[in-house]
Amino acid sequence: MKERILIVDDSPLVHQVMEAHLQEAGYEILHAHDGFEAINLTFKEMPDLIILDINMPKINGWQVCRLLKDHPLSKQIPIIIGTSAASATAISDPRQWSIQTGADDFFNKNLDSMDSLLIPLVKKQLEKKVRADKPHPSYPPLSELEIMSHLSHLLDIQLYKEVSYLKELDERKNAFVANVSHEFRSPLTVIGGYLSLMQAGKLGQTTKDQDEGIERNLRTVNRLIRLVTDLLDLSKIEAGKMILKKEKIDLAILLDDVIKLYSVTADEKKIELQREISKSLPLMFGDKDRLMQVMINLLYNSIKFTPENGKITLRLLEEGPNLRFEIEDTGHGIAKEDLEKIFDKFERVAAEKKEGTGLGLPISQDIVKLHGGKIRVESELEKGSKFIVLLPMGGSS
Ligand code: ADP
Repeated sequence: MKERILIVDDSPLVHQVMEAHLQEAGYEILHAHDGFEAINLTFKEMPDLIILDINMPKINGWQVCRLLKDHPLSKQIPIIIGTSAASATAISDPRQWSIQTGADDFFNKNLDSMDSLLIPLVKKQLEKKVRADKPHPSYPPLSELEIMSHLSHLLDIQLYKEVSYLKELDERKNAFVANVSHEFRSPLTVIGGYLSLMQAGKLGQTTKDQDEGIERNLRTVNRLIRLVTDLLDLSKIEAGKMILKKEKIDLAILLDDVIKLYSVTADEKKIELQREISKSLPLMFGDKDRLMQVMINLLYNSIKFTPENGKITLRLLEEGPNLRFEIEDTGHGIAKEDLEKIFDKFERVAAEKKEGTGLGLPISQDIVKLHGGKIRVESELEKGSKFIVLLPMGGSS
């Protein structure tokens, strides 16, 4: 008995050319002109092999392949997917994608080289095929609706598997980043402490050259500590392990502390720090250290991105149920198209690259969100930026 091959294609010309070559090679041919017809003909006739086009109306070849390869009756039937180079698909690598949907082989359809290209592939697949010696089941044809609903079910399963896999990878990556950051932070802190002692002259007299070296090394160590601390914070947030230690806090005191901390750095760049804090503000319920971290990140950025002789205004006021913290600078500003991006991880948009990791804003945003608040930015290039943080006084529980 001749082996039977089902050709699935919406082009009558392809059917004709393929049929001629395959018949000459000794095969019997069945024809389907769209995906639905192909599925029903497969269940009815149980061909020995299927040659599938990708781009067809209604459902494409990949969907047909996915469904047939999922079905216990048809999954043994070898499927070869072919597409012409000219027919564009949204997928950049149709061979890879075809194999992923379950196809046994793939070929670039070229009507001039069918015999040299397709016939060897067909032979190879038929040799591998385990012959089903059962009689062909007579299957009640499936409606288009039944096929579509089966397909959508299959795609849901596929999507679920892929998302779960990506999630697991992401969790493993997070754990790795957390471990490595942790391993780095402890020795860096020790080195930093040692350098600070040397700088303070507590380990003996040092020369001017040694002092300069100590200063440079201390700056580098502190930068690395900031980086690993950011990475550690980020992995904690992503793993849902950043737990807030909430208490009643006075944001005005917190802001004053932050301003004091950075007044020397601002002075060095001759930047004026102006504070506008409303009198007798209510206390808020929040995590002191984390909110201080947000203020530090924002102020540090403003100092970094504001040229000499600029001005930074820090405001704190009551607004409805929230406390509103604003930090406005006369710095480089941020281009309109970049405003959305700056809260994304590792995103750094300034033309002139300054020291940084691109993690300060996403971490700040997460901390504000954990408090039930919001952060946003208004900015114009060459005029300056204003970051606005709204924090509910009660905080979210
Ligand atoms: P980093 O400052 O470490 O690069 P951030 O997440 O804190 O990372 O900020 C991301 C980017 O947003 C910065 O690299 C910069 O391009 C831009 N940006 C943040 N704050 C300001 C600001 N005050 N003025 C201008 N650009 C800013």
